[in-house]
Amino acid sequence: MSSLLYWLLWIRRPESWENRRLQDLDRYKSKMKSKIKNEIKWSIWSCLIFALPSAFIVEMAKLGNTKIYLDPLEYGWMYLVLSLLIYLFLHDTYFYWTHRWLHIPSVYRRFHKVHHESLNPTPWTSFSFHPVESIIEAIIIPILVFIIPIHISLVGVLLTLMTIFGVVNHTGYEVYPRSWMLGFWNEHWITPTHHTLHHHKLNCNYGLYFRFWDKLMKTDVMIKTLFMKIKNPVF
Ligand SMILES: [Zn+2]
Ligand SMILES: [Zn+2]
Repeated sequence: MSSLLYWLLWIRRPESWENRRLQDLDRYKSKMKSKIKNEIKWSIWSCLIFALPSAFIVEMAKLGNTKIYLDPLEYGWMYLVLSLLIYLFLHDTYFYWTHRWLHIPSVYRRFHKVHHESLNPTPWTSFSFHPVESIIEAIIIPILVFIIPIHISLVGVLLTLMTIFGVVNHTGYEVYPRSWMLGFWNEHWITPTHHTLHHHKLNCNYGLYFRFWDKLMKTDVMIKTLFMKIKNPVF
């Protein structure tokens, strides 16, 4: 995902995305290469750490020790949709509160600073975590599958959505259509603009998928445009 979006947005024709750029690239140009190198290094560790609980889920499911089920109709069609929403909400809730914990100054210095080395995120920032942060983020779905029934295909959907959202929100470009940014999507879901603000300000926008917790806890900040270089603001 990171390679694909990096190629599409940063390498192929960055000029066509110019008016959607969320950061002042020129200012950080000299440091960009070493920054991306570092992000890839941390991400490789994260991939290994995230793979372990996934392997654990598969093995436990084979033994029948989890609530993962194979027949999509076992709990009915309605439950399929509902279970996805429940998992997304619980994952988002867990992420919001662990993320706030990671911003306690002493914890931040030890475990979360790695992710925030990237003041201006790139597609490689999304999984650039300290190993302790990776473990914290990787364990929640493996815990939930022991408690809440979920169809096996939805476990794949969840892990894919987590990866897509993670990478998209760190692309450094506002990728969503203008109409989405003016409507329901931007109002409720987290966008690259929203998460870039988290990287800039540090004290707002802690969510993963939804703005729900940020709004409820009054940590939600959203502005119309981020950078002066943007000649034609997207929204
Ligand atoms: Zn953070
Ligand atoms: Zn981030």
